[in-house]
Amino acid sequence: MKRNSLEPSVNRNTQRASRMATLAAAGAHPPSSGLINPSVERASTILYPTVDEYMNRHDGFYDEVIYGLYGTGTTFALAESVAALEGGHRSVITSSGSAAITLGLMTFLKSGDHVLVADCVYGSTRRFCDKVLRPLGIDVSYFDPLADKETFAPAFRTQTRAVYFESPGSQTFEIIDVPRLASVAREKGAVTLMDNTWATPVFFRPLEHGVDVSIASATKYLSGHSDVMLGTLTTASVELYERVKDTVGRWGNCAGPDECYLVHRGIRTLDVRLERHQRNAMKLIEWLHDQPLVKRVLYPALSSDPGYAVWKRDFKGASGLFGVVLSPECRSVAASFFDHLGHFRMGSSWGGFESLMVPAWPRPERLHRPAPEDGFLIRVHAGLEDPADLIADLEDAFARMTAALSR
Ligand SMILES: *Cc1c(COP(=O)(O)O)cnc(C)c1O
Repeated sequence: MKRNSLEPSVNRNTQRASRMATLAAAGAHPPSSGLINPSVERASTILYPTVDEYMNRHDGFYDEVIYGLYGTGTTFALAESVAALEGGHRSVITSSGSAAITLGLMTFLKSGDHVLVADCVYGSTRRFCDKVLRPLGIDVSYFDPLADKETFAPAFRTQTRAVYFESPGSQTFEIIDVPRLASVAREKGAVTLMDNTWATPVFFRPLEHGVDVSIASATKYLSGHSDVMLGTLTTASVELYERVKDTVGRWGNCAGPDECYLVHRGIRTLDVRLERHQRNAMKLIEWLHDQPLVKRVLYPALSSDPGYAVWKRDFKGASGLFGVVLSPECRSVAASFFDHLGHFRMGSSWGGFESLMVPAWPRPERLHRPAPEDGFLIRVHAGLEDPADLIADLEDAFARMTAALSR
């Protein structure tokens, strides 16, 4: 039975294209409707004309529309577009980036197993490992993101089933040597999962560097408009895809069709938006560099950054999110800086059109590379505005902070 099969929706042009801008713009389109965009298909019930087809519907679990929970045509269209961008076998869409991370880990871990997690991962990921995985009897250890092959290999145990990392690291922006760590993990028989939210496949394709499962919070750049929660998991093989799809289905996680539609639409402009985010980030950083209250900028695309050489080797670009370490005394006058911002806004999340700035607090439990202790860390997201306006806003904020410090 191929009645609701995914197959006809594959965009033949997408399959042939290899350049990111083309892949992003191409998306996936519906098989025969003539519409250039997928439709928003809202459904729980899917009807079957014969008892035979109904009884065998689960044969189509992995790639057909059989029940709303497991995805409608809109979900599969987004999955198709993400898989093409990632250069992966297939993608599974989840209700949030956090769900993609937790379900990705749950796919490969069971009681008695051990997982190696980079010390610099997203705070909620670490909380999930400590508060959910550990009580389930899964042993978690945190490794130094700057580990090389020699220091990383001894961290493996016979029970190590998975390695999880994020590069650059959340808040502190350490770059991991992904190909090297992924090859060690492969030798040891462990599955690798990478949170690639920061770079997106436009700037880094994890599967091409030996990673098994590439994870993204589509809430950020893929959607790009700060109005959606969604996550993606893209796998390197059929076997991995089926395991992930099983887990997401068994746990009853479902991405809404409206959200899938919006992210599919967002991806069309992903390449062009990231170019602008990158350019604006660089302009802001150049300006910040000259400010007396700025100690350092944490951004791997700076030649002075410790991660620069590996970033340059592996990544095609850098996105709009970076860290700034201010002089320690700035902490006491943070309100003068943050409370009267103009174009910059304050709020969680990032990856949308808007510029954001927030004080950053890396998890105090970090073992290897804690928060910078020599200053006050802030996190900046360069949005799509004209950088001259953003710099004017920063000028005012630094002037207010300087005045507050001299009082
Ligand atoms: C935001 C974020 C997440 C979580 O994604 P949600 O869609 O907010 O659940 C995971 N990883 C990184 C790096 C993020 O920035």
